[in-house]
Amino acid sequence: MTSRLERGWRHRFRAVLEKVRPRRLEFGVDLLMARSRALAATVGLEEARARVYEFTRWRVQRRLEKTGACWVAPTDGRDRFACDLSLGGLARWLRAAGFEASVGSTEDAIALARADGIGLTTDVEPFERKERLALLWVPSSLPPPRQMGLVLRDLSLAPRTPRCMACGGALRLVAKASVAERIPPRTARWKEDYFVCERCDRLFWQGTHWERIAARVAAERPAAEDPGRP
Ligand SMILES: [Zn+2]
Repeated sequence: MTSRLERGWRHRFRAVLEKVRPRRLEFGVDLLMARSRALAATVGLEEARARVYEFTRWRVQRRLEKTGACWVAPTDGRDRFACDLSLGGLARWLRAAGFEASVGSTEDAIALARADGIGLTTDVEPFERKERLALLWVPSSLPPPRQMGLVLRDLSLAPRTPRCMACGGALRLVAKASVAERIPPRTARWKEDYFVCERCDRLFWQGTHWERIAARVAAERPAAEDPGRP
C-alpha cells in the first residue's frame, strides 16, 4: 500500500513534470521516486525527496524559459496563506518571512484557495478531485523552515519584512521610552530598537533569537539559482 507521504510526493512530482508534457508521465514520476530512494541512504528519505523535487522543478523552469513559456505558479499574484492544523509551525515561519498565514482546517485552506489566497495542506485527497485550486501539498515530515523554503520557491516568492510570528500582524518600530516598563532590564541595557505587533501588541527586539530566525529566512532564496544535482 502506498503511504500518504508517498502519494503526496507523487502528486508533487507529477504537477511539475506535467508542465513539460512528457510522453510517459507516470514513468517519469516513478523514476524520480526511485532516485529519491537511492539518495535516502545519505540524507534520509524525506530530505532526499525534497532535494530531488527542488532540482526537478529548477530544471523544468529552465526548460520552460528556453521554449519561451513561463513558469506559471497556480497561485499567481496571491500572497496570503491558510495552513491546515498540522502546519502551525510553517504558518509561524511564513509570518517571519513577511506573509499573512492563518491556521485552520483543510476545508479552511481550500476556502481561501477558492477565494484570493493560497491553501497549504498535508492532505492528499483534495488533489485527487479534479478542481484546479491555489492549493499546495506540503510534506508534514520536513521541518517547518524547510517547508517554508519549499513553498516560497514553488511560488517564486521572496521573503519580505518580518511579521509577528504569533499572529501575523505588522511590526511597528516604537520609541524605547514608550515600552520601557515591558523591556527586561538586561535587554534594555544593550538594545535601542523595539517593535510592537499592531495586532496582538507583543513586543519584539532584534536579539539572538530574532537574528537566528532572520538568517534562516534569508537563506531561503526564490528559485533563481541552480539548487545542484542531488
Ligand atoms: Zn502579533
